[in-house]
This record gives sequence, structure tokens and C-alpha cells, in this order.
Amino acid sequence: MPGSTPSPHGSLLPHEKARPLAKGSTYPAKDLCSQCGLCDSRWVAYVRQACAFLNQQFETMETRVHGRSRDLNNEDELYFGVSQRMLTARLEPPIEGAQWTGIVSRLGVRALESGLVDAVLCVQQSEHDRFTPVPVLARTPEQVLAARVNKPTLSPNLEVLEQLPGSGIRNLLAIGVGCQVQALRAVEATLPLDNLYVLGLPCVDNVSRAGLQTFLDSSSRSPETVVHYEFMQDFRIHFRHSDGSNETVPFFGLDTPKLKDVFAPSCLSCFDYTNGGADLVVGYMGASFGRQWITVRNDRGAALLQLVEAELETAPVQSRGNRKAAVQQGIDAYDKAVKLPLWLARLVGCVVNAIGPRGLEYGRFSIDSHFTRNALWLRRHHPEMADRHIPSFAQKIVNRYRLPAL
Ligand code: FAD
Ligand code: SF4
Repeated sequence: MPGSTPSPHGSLLPHEKARPLAKGSTYPAKDLCSQCGLCDSRWVAYVRQACAFLNQQFETMETRVHGRSRDLNNEDELYFGVSQRMLTARLEPPIEGAQWTGIVSRLGVRALESGLVDAVLCVQQSEHDRFTPVPVLARTPEQVLAARVNKPTLSPNLEVLEQLPGSGIRNLLAIGVGCQVQALRAVEATLPLDNLYVLGLPCVDNVSRAGLQTFLDSSSRSPETVVHYEFMQDFRIHFRHSDGSNETVPFFGLDTPKLKDVFAPSCLSCFDYTNGGADLVVGYMGASFGRQWITVRNDRGAALLQLVEAELETAPVQSRGNRKAAVQQGIDAYDKAVKLPLWLARLVGCVVNAIGPRGLEYGRFSIDSHFTRNALWLRRHHPEMADRHIPSFAQKIVNRYRLPAL
């Protein structure tokens, strides 16, 4: 196969024998497939071992990548995964048009400029639709910057692995969400690379492009003009419209009955919210409003952060409040698909925002709420796989709450 790495074993490795299949021809995880893209590359040969929804392997992955698995008796690691360091930060000056302040894009640019990597795996957008993802191997800072801002839909990032053989790329920075990173880590040793750096994003509640439309139609006053949105730490969704105006909708005012079926089944069965296999993770939910939240998992992550640290205004992580009662109430309300009238939703939102969890405690609130919902969803929809698919750290968290009957 032109450009493939000769196998050190003498015989061809499975991906060297495999021909990339026609897109959409096989996705063994079936309804749970997150369209991570692995099956659209020749690395489909490893799908049974690598797919995050067929063979989740946190302990093996963490031990291989970070040298140890997370310490379940350490509350921070139980929730946020293996970590050397956590901090909050803002990029100064921020990058115009980025999702938050643009730390991720700046890191990608610096990784290229410094010669650390030859390319950055990131996600641009379709020229026809701002929310349709187009994964690329970016070779220039401009191409990395063109990938800024979330495309809040399932993205086949790993399909571009197909372009690696013969590309001359030996050192790669891959930016991605948990399911993409799990599959990438599982095939890492077979990739024709000298160095792989992984910059992770936390991720929950992703949707197909059609699901996104249902969400926008039921949540925003002007769905067709939304260019950016985020579920923020003030318990509201912030929509930005193409005319520059902002709209906020309280979480508690969402049309839960309609939205229960919008999230992708892959995301309803996922427990990798904080991207356990990445070297460095950049999100927001463990930081105060307007700041980003950074977790350094290992020495490679520290080397990545060093590329931009002089351009960051940093602060220690903080934690305030107690999430537990709010999580328990949320579990029951979600299960009954309660929809509050908007005035009441705004009132509840204001009260929770004033006295509710902040910083890392907000992160734990969000993780508890999603893990309990997902454990219940899995037990109801895929009871045969629940025991093996819910990792021990998630089970420990879920056991802290009372779940509705199956
Ligand atoms: P930017 O500089 O704007 O760069 C954004 C990067 O995201 C780009 O490099 C691009 O390649 C990548 N990207 C865009 N769309 C996708 C996609 N669909 N799949 C994979 N990569 C993509 N953080 C939290 O703390 N809590 C959450 O619940 C959470 N959910 C998220 C859900 C999704 C689908 C995504 C993509 C991100 C989520 N994040 C979440 C991360 C957060 O929203 C920001 O992306 C992150 O903090 C980086 O912000 P930034 O300004 O530095 O990014
Ligand atoms: Fe293949 Fe990825 Fe879907 Fe699993 S999630 S079936 S690896 S495309």
C-alpha cells in the first residue's frame, strides 16, 4: 500500500490489508455509533477493539497514555480524570470568533509555528452550512484558525487518518472529543507517526445535524440566524445571532418532552465527558463564567500548555456550593419530562444561579446529572451492555443518587 509504514513484524498489519470502505457501509456500533470517523478509514480494521461503544477501556487507555489510571479515592480524579494540574485561564487577547477565548486554536497555531507538529487534526465547517463539520489535517496557522468555534454536531474526525499515509506528516496534534480520542488512542501504535499529541475537549449531549435543527427550533426565538451557542455556567443557554444580538434561555425552560429524543444515542451512553485519554483538556465547565478550564493530564499535556502559557491570564480553580439536592431534583424532573412555564424557569434559573454550585462544583453538578441520566438510559435501552459499559468511576458517582425505576 503506497505510503504505509512497513510493519515491524514483517507481515502486514490489519489496517495495511484493509481497504477503506465506502462511507456509511459499516458502523458496527449501530445505533450507538457517534460517527467518529474511524470506520471511514482503513483503521476500520481495528473497530472491534477500538470503538468507544463496543469496547470501552478506560483503565488500559489511561495506564498506557498517562502511566496510571485515575485514583477513584481522590474526588477530583474520580470526576475529572488523571491530572497533574488544573487551572482556569483566558487567552489575552482572545481570538475573534472562537468558541470561548480561543485557547484551543492558539495552541494549534503555536504547535505548528514552533515545529512541534507537522499538522493539526481539527474541524472546519462546510461552506454551505456553519454547523456541518469538515475534519481536516491543517498544515498552516490559517487552516487551524479556520477551524475555530464548535460545530455542535457529531463529527467524523478520524476519517482524515486515511490521508496520513504518504502525507509526510510524522508529528500530529489531534483535537477532539472523548469518543474520537478513545478510538484514536486504541489505534495509536499502528499510525504512521513519530509523535501524537492529543488536545481534548469535554463533550456531552451532541446531536446529528437533524437533531440540532430540532433543538434550535424548539429553543431559540430565531433558529435560522443562530451562529453560536453554549450551555453556560449561569444555567442558561447563550445563543449568538448573525446580527450580533444575544439571546439567553434558562436550562429549566427547555422543552424537555421534545428534547429527550434529540441527543445522539452515542452521547446518551457516554461516560467520557471530561475526555480521559487526552494529554491536555480545554473546556469551560469547571471555571467561573467567561473563563476556560484546563486540565493537564501528563507531561505531553504540560508541553502543549507551555506553548501558550505566556499568553494566558491564569487563576487557580475554585469550588463553591453543594450540587447534590439540585442533581437529585433534576433526575426526577427530567425523567418525568417536566416543562416549566418560561416565567418560572427564569425564576428558578435566577435562584440557582445566585446560590447554586460554582467552579469545580458546577462541573460535578453537570457530570452527576449526565452520568445518572445516561446510566438510566443505558439500563433501559441496552440492558445487556450496561454492566460492562458503565466504567467503575461512573458507577461510583451514579450510586450516590436515587434513580427512578426502570
Ligand atoms: P476554539 O479556539 O474556538 O476551537 C474550537 C475547536 O473545536 C477547533 O479546534 C475545532 O477543531 C474543534 N471542534 C469544533 N467542533 C468539533 C466537533 N464537533 N468535534 C470535535 N472537535 C470539534 N466544554 C465543557 O466544558 N463542557 C461541555 O459540555 C462541552 N461540550 C462540548 C460539546 C462539543 C460538541 C464540543 C465541540 C465542545 C464542547 N466543549 C465543552 C468544549 C468547549 O465548548 C470549547 O470548545 C472549548 O472550551 C475550547 O474553546 P476555545 O475557544 O479554546 O475553542
Ligand atoms: Fe466506527 Fe466510530 Fe461508529 Fe464506533 S463510533 S462504529 S469506531 S465510526
